[in-house]
Amino acid sequence: MNDIKIDQKAISNLKEFKNPEDIQFGKTLVPALLKCEYKDGKWGQLEFLPYHKILIDPAAKVLHYAQEIFEGLKSYKNDEEEVFLFRPIENAKRFNLSALRMGMPELPEDLFIDSLHCLVKHSHHTFSKELGDSFYLRPFMFGDEPQLGVKPSSTYQYYLIGGPAGNYFTKPSVKVRVEKESHRASSKGIGSAKTGGNYAASMAANKLTSEQGYDQTLWLDPVYGEFVEELSGMNFFAVIDDVLVTPELSNSILHGITRASLLELAQSFGIKVQEKKISINELMDQIDSKNCTELFASGTASVLTPIECLRLDDRESFVKNPNGLMSLKLKDSLQRLQTGRSEDPFNWRQQVNL
Ligand SMILES: *Cc1c(COP(=O)(O)O)cnc(C)c1O
Repeated sequence: MNDIKIDQKAISNLKEFKNPEDIQFGKTLVPALLKCEYKDGKWGQLEFLPYHKILIDPAAKVLHYAQEIFEGLKSYKNDEEEVFLFRPIENAKRFNLSALRMGMPELPEDLFIDSLHCLVKHSHHTFSKELGDSFYLRPFMFGDEPQLGVKPSSTYQYYLIGGPAGNYFTKPSVKVRVEKESHRASSKGIGSAKTGGNYAASMAANKLTSEQGYDQTLWLDPVYGEFVEELSGMNFFAVIDDVLVTPELSNSILHGITRASLLELAQSFGIKVQEKKISINELMDQIDSKNCTELFASGTASVLTPIECLRLDDRESFVKNPNGLMSLKLKDSLQRLQTGRSEDPFNWRQQVNL
């Protein structure tokens, strides 16, 4: 356990905090945060502080060279009001893999985990035990050295912010546009790091996607422009001939924890799973011939979101039943496991002491 320096104002802020009428994912944030600074080659003390604006120098590295990484995970409650984190150690490990890729210092895993427990312990009254309700946690780190040379920053700031979250998508299923004109990530680039640059690379295409009446962009591999990779913030799955298929991991795909968990869970149910290259043209043929019966996206925010159609140039393929049996079963069982409503045979949950 790290010794956390606590500002009592952070705790009183949280005690007084009342949720607004309509909670907006990512916008409704609680009025406290955790912070830790890295300088002289080491991390300082973790601090629990009132939510505040960050003051950085205009020459800070992050503003020019995007030396930044983040994570996203949730805390959940069961009917007994017990509170859990889902596989937070996987997020801590991935945070450090991202740090390594971006030339940033690693953050001790226990410091990362302790920050999560601290924020959730003092914020759990802001979300209910209703299924679908949760508390979203956003750890992030950036280089703040004021120096315009293209070299890694010598100083960093780690922060954790968070807020209550309902269901991410209000729609039961989403429409997806396949992007052919640009790539989100390059081969051997930074696609498997959770860093702002990958999201920046997706913004223009996402804009086009919504202008054309679609909800999400599907990215193809950066070498052949042929194989399905993922959505801008979620991994991709298809059910083809009753096999659960997902693109095999590469260094241009983010290694989703929900993705990995769904694969393990599916196998434990005796569902056949396959990680392989999926050609977009073959996939659309399989949707049209009804061999592909379900498509969905996976990620922390929504667990699993059914996809109703894929649009590629002038071609559009509709899935027969977007809320298919396999999607429903996997979503329900992963959600029950995450929220402490079922057994935890994989030891994925971590309980938060309140
Ligand atoms: C975070 C993220 C995901 C989903 O990862 P989870 O660990 O399942 O939340 C998928 N793709 C991208 C690009 C991401 O940034």
